[in-house]
Amino acid sequence: MVKPLCACLALISLTLITACQPQPAVDPSLLLVSNVSVVDVEAGAVAPGQDVFLRDGRIAWVGRAGTSELPEPGRSFAGDDLFIIPGLWDSHVHVFSTEGEPDFALPLYILHGVTSIRDMGALISLDDQREVNEQIETGARIGPRIINAGAMIDGPPGSWPGQMVASTPEEGRARVREAAALGWTSIKAYSLLDPETYRAIAEEADALELPLYGHVPESVLLTGAIAAGHDVIEHFGRVTKACSTEEQAMIEGARAALASDDPFPALMAEMATHAFTTLETWDAEICDGAIAALVESGVAIAPTLMVADFYLGDDPEPDDPRLQTVPQSVRAAWGEPDFRRTAMTEDLLAIAPDAVQQDRDTFKRAHDAGVIMLASSDAAFLNPFLFHGATLIDELERYVLVGLTPREALATATLNPARLFGEESETGRVRQGQRADLVLLRANPLENISAVRELEAVIANGRVFDRAALDDLEATLRLRANSDASN
Ligand SMILES: [Zn+2]
Repeated sequence: MVKPLCACLALISLTLITACQPQPAVDPSLLLVSNVSVVDVEAGAVAPGQDVFLRDGRIAWVGRAGTSELPEPGRSFAGDDLFIIPGLWDSHVHVFSTEGEPDFALPLYILHGVTSIRDMGALISLDDQREVNEQIETGARIGPRIINAGAMIDGPPGSWPGQMVASTPEEGRARVREAAALGWTSIKAYSLLDPETYRAIAEEADALELPLYGHVPESVLLTGAIAAGHDVIEHFGRVTKACSTEEQAMIEGARAALASDDPFPALMAEMATHAFTTLETWDAEICDGAIAALVESGVAIAPTLMVADFYLGDDPEPDDPRLQTVPQSVRAAWGEPDFRRTAMTEDLLAIAPDAVQQDRDTFKRAHDAGVIMLASSDAAFLNPFLFHGATLIDELERYVLVGLTPREALATATLNPARLFGEESETGRVRQGQRADLVLLRANPLENISAVRELEAVIANGRVFDRAALDDLEATLRLRANSDASN
């Protein structure tokens, strides 16, 4: 169903075939990155003059340049004047949202130094997704490692095609068991679930030791989700709503809408009023209570702050180079009126900037209080102007704009996801024993987060993409996007 990048490209031109050859003239099983500055995100410090020795896709040794007692490595990569950081994570993406999307999306992550992603919902089966994972792992396909987390359960009638739907606690439990039997290792709750069904899903997921991700349903209080054992809440706005003196009233409004004859439009109408209510009734004391509950429970948030730009109408210029790596057909769809934007009334548009600012302020407040944040883009061809790879970088810059330090922003894309997803021994640090998922930068990202744009090389699963290889990859994607061969 999904073709590997190389198989499709081979038909197009010699340039493309060249770009698909094993990358590049460096033996990935044995590599010395010499005399590089190692960025320690945890300590917020840089250790200059280090050698990083990679063997069989792992970091075999890190230490002062020239002092390794390891055998002479096969190849070396000069790290002089470069900074090495752990490969980045994007903790909320949709790479399987449309046919052919992985062929573009997956290499775009590598192109931006993103070596791990959590996929939050898809049109294709888990088996087909795992086939893609396997192709990446074996090197047949260029892409990041993927956590497949798209087992979505929604209330009736469902918000998107492909979701499981549950309208009673019994059905909710059954859907969780079915997902587990299919091999899913987590559950994603969605907005239309009623409170009882949601709690049953949470209980069943807990019994089967599946983490619970996803939206806090519109009919559930934030504290209700925390009590139910929700592990990662997607999109920050739900926390801001819990800072309102009227959260309970808004939840009851949502419940009434869901119980009506035509629940979906009723809920949409109800939700439109919540933006005004939240803006007018945000309360610092209530907010700090909600935030304290999140900190105490260890619930993490995938904030997806860049999504706000879409609602503000802050679209990229037509000549934005990122558009050139998006297939023509998708670009055309992004130019059409979007149902999410056309649903916004004049009044809603008028308050949008203030609502977004309130969201950002609350995000900063929650972060500073200790809520675990997971850098996340919500990139998908179905989500206009949220770019695979590039938007994660924008998101990190957004965190700094909102007030995080560059070190704190980097932690949301390295240390935090590694810890949250149980991969601390595998990724998130430049440390012996970790996977060789690394990024080499020409500037120090602890001084300026925009240094993550200054890529000199990306090492993904031990495979090295130097600057020339990254440029080749980008040229390949542009050519394909503009010929739209997959569509
Ligand atoms: Zn999403």
